[in-house]
Amino acid sequence: MKYNFTSGEELLKKCEELNIPIHELCLERESELTGVSKEEILKKMHTALNIMRDAVEKAQIEDIKSMGGLIGGEAKKLTLFRNSDKKTVCGELMNKAMSAAMGTMEVNASMGLVVAAPTAGSCGILPGAIVTIGKEYNLTDEEMVRGLLTASAIGAIITRNATVSGAEGGCQAETGAAAAMASAGVVEMMGGTPKEAIHSASHCLQNVMGLICDPIAGLVEAPCQGRNAIGVANALISAELVLCGILNVIPFDETVEAMYKVGKTLPMELRETALGGVAATCTGCSLTKKIFG
Ligand code: SF4
Repeated sequence: MKYNFTSGEELLKKCEELNIPIHELCLERESELTGVSKEEILKKMHTALNIMRDAVEKAQIEDIKSMGGLIGGEAKKLTLFRNSDKKTVCGELMNKAMSAAMGTMEVNASMGLVVAAPTAGSCGILPGAIVTIGKEYNLTDEEMVRGLLTASAIGAIITRNATVSGAEGGCQAETGAAAAMASAGVVEMMGGTPKEAIHSASHCLQNVMGLICDPIAGLVEAPCQGRNAIGVANALISAELVLCGILNVIPFDETVEAMYKVGKTLPMELRETALGGVAATCTGCSLTKKIFG
């Protein structure tokens, strides 16, 4: 297969051989593997982008309450703070990205429509990065869809060679993978090279390596929402690093392998069972009791 890749190394080699960016290789690969036309794939990607954007915007204007009642209204709080006369610690762009990521999680936790990219628990990170950067720099929908395609290449490699499931590899696998995807997408959207995109994905995975999965009451609400805010910050920081020429010292494929190995060594209490971490604290347990009786 001319466009297929199964690792970061292969991906980079093909991009260099064919002299094309990751998003272009990914589009060709998808069409080659599925037999679906490139036009049809792009149409679906535009639909995904619109769903992401709708979720981001919905949380800015609606009072969304999650099913478990642990989260709701955080996106609006961030925006109100940003628009007030108070000084933001992280700056406007990061505040917007955090608001977009947390808002998407609010929509998810209220059973609204989101794109699980790669999972529902990490669904705020990709829109938080792509939609926010796209809006900030007046990028077209086509450019943002390219960012999503680049992200999907990273997600495909992690899914194939490791896992993106919190139940299997901890939160490092879920929100770490989402950040890696988002970061690579942002790098190419901002004019970075395939090599820089891959290195930013390595930064992201290494930044949260070992992060456990401990959802309170077993619900994808807290600490998940906060980890989406951290995840989008991870993605943007990692993109900035590589665009400044700060590459990672460990190759992406080795990083993915290391993340997977770490995930396998996590005890089952720390892999989405709600038996460890903050889920098992006194407060975590009493919240569980309050929600489920
Ligand atoms: S804590 Fe677990 S359920 Fe929550 S976002 Fe992380 S991996 Fe997903």
